[in-house]
Amino acid sequence: MNFTNSEKIQQRANEAILGGVNSPSRSYKAVGGGAPVVMARGEGAYFYDVDGNKYIDYLAAYGPIITGHAHPHITEAIKRAAENGVLYGTPTEHEVVFAEMLKEAIPSLEKVRFVNSGTEAVMTTIRVARAFTKRDKIIKFAGCYHGHSDLVLVAAGSGPSQLGTPDSAGVPKSVAQEVITVPFNDIEQFKEAFHHFGDQIAGVLVEPIVGNFGIVEPKEGFLQAVNDIAHEHGALVIYDEVITAFRFMYGGAQDLLGVKPDLTAFGKVIGGGLPIGAYGGRQDIMEHVAPLGPTYQAGTMAGNPLSMQAGIALLEVIKQDGVYEELDRLGKILEDGMLALIKKYNIRATINRLMGAMTIYFTDEKVVNYEQAENTDGEAFAKFFKLMLNQGINLAPSKYEAWFITTEHTEQDIQETLKAVENAFMSMTVEK
Ligand code: PMP
Repeated sequence: MNFTNSEKIQQRANEAILGGVNSPSRSYKAVGGGAPVVMARGEGAYFYDVDGNKYIDYLAAYGPIITGHAHPHITEAIKRAAENGVLYGTPTEHEVVFAEMLKEAIPSLEKVRFVNSGTEAVMTTIRVARAFTKRDKIIKFAGCYHGHSDLVLVAAGSGPSQLGTPDSAGVPKSVAQEVITVPFNDIEQFKEAFHHFGDQIAGVLVEPIVGNFGIVEPKEGFLQAVNDIAHEHGALVIYDEVITAFRFMYGGAQDLLGVKPDLTAFGKVIGGGLPIGAYGGRQDIMEHVAPLGPTYQAGTMAGNPLSMQAGIALLEVIKQDGVYEELDRLGKILEDGMLALIKKYNIRATINRLMGAMTIYFTDEKVVNYEQAENTDGEAFAKFFKLMLNQGINLAPSKYEAWFITTEHTEQDIQETLKAVENAFMSMTVEK
């Protein structure tokens, strides 16, 4: 494949944009470098780059594009919205309709507020939990990404009795000391953290199904135990459903798993591809937010007409019968096909999949926590990534990012993808 135009544009990008990208995950640093492909157009399950190459896309913009690129119903809603003015700074009925749809889909949402990104949504839930409990500390799980606010860019201390350290330059040490990080799926360490800091903990921040070191499901009973222990100590449970909401079923992972948080943060899928975030939860907790309460949160762009109408249109599409069954069916064909190829070519790899989201890890062991995901073979993934890209399959350039199937992928797309996987594995076997 020829990437000449991508390379030229990326050279200009390097001059004009810091690092050539507007989000670090888009760089190819983690897969051995090179100019990231510059996309020109998306349509359904496909991307077309600036050199005219076509790709089957499994990045789905890191999750939001669940109905494929430029879905006609959503595009039409955005066009209509734009014609009536893109930003008002006043209430609109669309905000109400969308909030009602979210409340109907997710029973734990007694009240909702819209913001502009997942980062903002999570950041605000933490502030609200602190205001409600009058405590400062937060527990989070290792390897889970919750946006780029100071409080969640914190690395684990050496154990559950240790406070965190900054995971990014510029995060104050004093802020990192408000965070305790424990391994996902390890209830004993979670208990120990509460044993040490119980009466100081405002909230537990948890991705109910992890999407940020691949797709990792909670072990049986884990989330219920998290809820029980947190509540026993007077702490709130905050679900970060920025990736999971509406990805695995119509509603949240909380419905799928049958566990109810006190607060939830949303983003990604709910905006139909437009910038969005939302948070909400128990009425008595949400009442602490301005203008009703003393906890401040605001936004010039919050609840903007475009994101609201794109979000409503998106929910209308995915509410239809059979959407999630089909994502699961295609996901299973992809998973089964890849497992057969892993066996046939004797590749050291395993797969985690839930419905239409899947991760291939280059390792022998089943991945249930971040440490295992970190220890997978990055070089093998880098080879695989480039081999797939060169056959027109667009994946995230990270060894543990999810592949997302959209409602626009067909069985033929999956079969083509499996052919590309077979070619990639063949090349990797020959190289060994
Ligand atoms: N939480 C989770 C679980 C996420 O995956 C992300 C984004 N990858 C965020 C929060 C931050 O969302 P945003 O990029 O919209 O700020």
